[in-house]
Amino acid sequence: MPAIGIDVGGTWIRTGVVDPTGRVLARRRPDPVRTVDELVECLALAIDELLAEHNDDDAMSIGVALPGIVDAATGLIRCVNLPFLEGADVVGALASRFDAKVTAFTDADAATWGEYRALSSQPERFIHLRLGTGVACGIVVANKLQNTSGDRATHWDALVVSESREARPCKCGLRGCLETIASGPALEKSAEAIGCRDGLDGLQRLWTKGDARAALIVREATDAIGAVIDNLRHRFAPQLISVGGGVVDRLPCLMELVGSAHADLSSGAAMIPEIRLARLGDDAGVVGAALLTLRSSV
Ligand SMILES: [Zn+2]
Repeated sequence: MPAIGIDVGGTWIRTGVVDPTGRVLARRRPDPVRTVDELVECLALAIDELLAEHNDDDAMSIGVALPGIVDAATGLIRCVNLPFLEGADVVGALASRFDAKVTAFTDADAATWGEYRALSSQPERFIHLRLGTGVACGIVVANKLQNTSGDRATHWDALVVSESREARPCKCGLRGCLETIASGPALEKSAEAIGCRDGLDGLQRLWTKGDARAALIVREATDAIGAVIDNLRHRFAPQLISVGGGVVDRLPCLMELVGSAHADLSSGAAMIPEIRLARLGDDAGVVGAALLTLRSSV
């Protein structure tokens, strides 16, 4: 039986009907919203349309990926990147509208599970690093998602690039997180400072033309991503790390450079994981949330 997957991002909302193999059977992409009521309304509308299109009589379970963490005790969301979601009970609101089981997941976990299940063969240890409005990663060991969404949500110390007191402050309260350098908003701010009017697309264009200022911004982000990958490989010894999210989709030069730096590393040291561009693109969170909710329904 299929499930409905929902992925609420910093600047977009994606929903879909997903079958148990991870295939997306139908999609809806409502416009971004600014309040909890608007969010619940637009999700309810999208779910109605998906159910009508899919025409399945069985009650479907609904998995929701959110850019923060859901408090297990209260069901309320804690979220720094979409402040209007702070303290909201989206799960409760959707559950009361539909005759379905609704489960929430951290967006990084959902995307990680989606990417893991999309692999043709699943490694023992897998990490997915997601660079979007926020930056987060998820870890799968022996077919189980590891809990990376503790108190500091997704900003645990593996994603801190610089311990320096001069490092940029992050919204999570730490300094020097990868998010302050390689997230969409951080790179867009850097791009704007060198005159790019169209954010990451402009930055990619300037980088391709050989612009020295664009090269510097991209180099800083690449070095930071490389440092985090190095940190993750030493701590978790994954066989495969996939990197995805809106930032790498719109700024492909990042993965080009991360890949070539990693290839150099491979020549000498042992325990080098494969680094790969994520496969599912925009669908990762929707697929992962649906598959996780199906798994938890078994
Ligand atoms: Zn942070």
